[in-house]
Amino acid sequence: MMRLFDSIAARFSSGRPPLACSVQDGEREVANVVPRVVHAATLESALAGALDRNELFLHYQPQACLASGRIVAVEALLRWESPIWGRVPPETFIPLAEQSGLIVPIGEWVLREACAQLRAWQSRGLPPVAIAVNVSPRQFCEGDLVASVRAILDEMRVSPRLLELELTEGQMLHDPEQVAAALCLLRKTGVRIALDDFGTGFSSLAHLQRLGVDTIKIDRSFVRNLGRDPQRGVIVGGILAIARGLGLRVVAEGVETESELGYLRDRGCDHVQGYLTGRPVPGMEVGHLLRAGGVVCRGRLMDLAAS
Ligand code: C2E
Ligand code: MG
Ligand code: MG
Repeated sequence: MMRLFDSIAARFSSGRPPLACSVQDGEREVANVVPRVVHAATLESALAGALDRNELFLHYQPQACLASGRIVAVEALLRWESPIWGRVPPETFIPLAEQSGLIVPIGEWVLREACAQLRAWQSRGLPPVAIAVNVSPRQFCEGDLVASVRAILDEMRVSPRLLELELTEGQMLHDPEQVAAALCLLRKTGVRIALDDFGTGFSSLAHLQRLGVDTIKIDRSFVRNLGRDPQRGVIVGGILAIARGLGLRVVAEGVETESELGYLRDRGCDHVQGYLTGRPVPGMEVGHLLRAGGVVCRGRLMDLAAS
């Protein structure tokens, strides 16, 4: 929100609208931007009450081990069903939550809900899986993420070893010292840390070493067309070799085709997450999958993973 306001202000109050364009161009731009600003403001104020109105919920996407074909973890992904706008895409409402600070209470709710779901699966005797939860840097800087994680794990009687927190590299740079200190404390308690969307940021090897992460998640933009696009193959092969050298686990995101899966398997990728092995689904569906043995690489996929 503020960024949009800022960009309008910067453009029209700093004498820049002349920008080699006419007054009509400027008016047209305002006419285009203002409805977006108003829409964003309306969405943001609706999002502020979404938690209390029970409009937020989680879906879970399986992560499969390429050696066994089984679900070893699930990623909790936030969903918003608004009575006014219907299903609002995460790429629309999560940036609003980040900018407004709402991500702090919402992120804590996600953590509690995901751990409660894990406890519910365990209480039903289902095979253990880990749970991955996305966190925002604002949860480190404005909330006390370390204390919340400890309290929630305690309350839900969930082992820290079953929780993995996902951050992007850009997020880690937000306040590197504070984030690094918190990550260190979290890892000491047994919680794992994953670097999300790897390859889209600086992909700095120094960060990998200094910040202490357990898992790299290769962004889906590098996974698409693997096996057919030689350049992507070289990049992914390089990431896998570095990860192996550093003793890190690798999850490939956005795996949609058998040729992508075959390529990753042949190069020693540990886990895959993508539509091929399972879309994000409600917790109950994950429960059914786990009860049925948790195998998501079936038939040809299983042959591929085993051959
Ligand atoms: P992410 O953490 O990288 O999550 C993976 C995204 O890729 C998810 O999008 C998932 O649905 C999508 N995806 C998975 N497999 C495939 C595939 O095979 N093909 C394609 N095309 N897409 C695939 P989603 O659920 O829309 O989430 C988008 C982003 O929103 C997430 O990216 C994450 O950065 C953020 N997010 C989601 N839930 C939370 C949350 O609870 N807290 C925070 N801070 N961010 C969240
Ligand atoms: Mg993620
Ligand atoms: Mg990702």
